[in-house]
Amino acid sequence: MRRIDRRRREQLRRRVVNFSVSFALGALVATLLSDRLQRQATGRSIEPVAIATSGEIESTTGAPRVPAVQAAAPSMAEAIGALTRHDLLIPVQGVTANQLRDTFDDSRAIGRRHDAIDIMAPRGTEVRAVEDGTIAKLFTSKAGGLTIYQFDPTQTFSYYYAHLDHYVSGLAEHQTVKRGQLLGYVGSTGNASESAPHLHFAIARLGTDRAWWKGDPINPYPLLMK
Ligand SMILES: [Zn+2]
Repeated sequence: MRRIDRRRREQLRRRVVNFSVSFALGALVATLLSDRLQRQATGRSIEPVAIATSGEIESTTGAPRVPAVQAAAPSMAEAIGALTRHDLLIPVQGVTANQLRDTFDDSRAIGRRHDAIDIMAPRGTEVRAVEDGTIAKLFTSKAGGLTIYQFDPTQTFSYYYAHLDHYVSGLAEHQTVKRGQLLGYVGSTGNASESAPHLHFAIARLGTDRAWWKGDPINPYPLLMK
């Protein structure tokens, strides 16, 4: 009698386990799919930091901003002010402030602003973290080539390093990094010219979802010039 009970219990337990596993797999697939769809929707095929979602768009409707939103998110000017105090390092070894060029507003494709600066340097020059933080994503894209997305310690900003020749060995997602830590090497992967290796460097203010692939672009030039 007891044996039968035990067998039933065992069958029931298996069913529960099977159901849990199926559910977990389903949830995982759904997450991966929505992630992929979201990336496609951002039109990231041109340049991976497709920071096209500016909160300023709402002003075109003439509708007043909702005070609650204003209270939740500091203005862009405030965010940039805060970032000024982060004391960012020029991310390419040996490059000084007077060698930087402000190419943030350059156009790179039809109707598309660069939203980054290009720091020219010989292939293989060391690329270093602009400040402390976390490696949010190691990503390869058609335009950016081999790239790194780093978040700052407050997870408010992302730093994007693109066209890398290769990563420093052992670099991994979720790894914490220190200001000046070696991340990789200058190259021309993606849509950079073979004959003009450079670091494409961008900064974005992250949205509340902390999604690594989007945010509001901030010009790195004045922040690296000080
Ligand atoms: Zn660029």
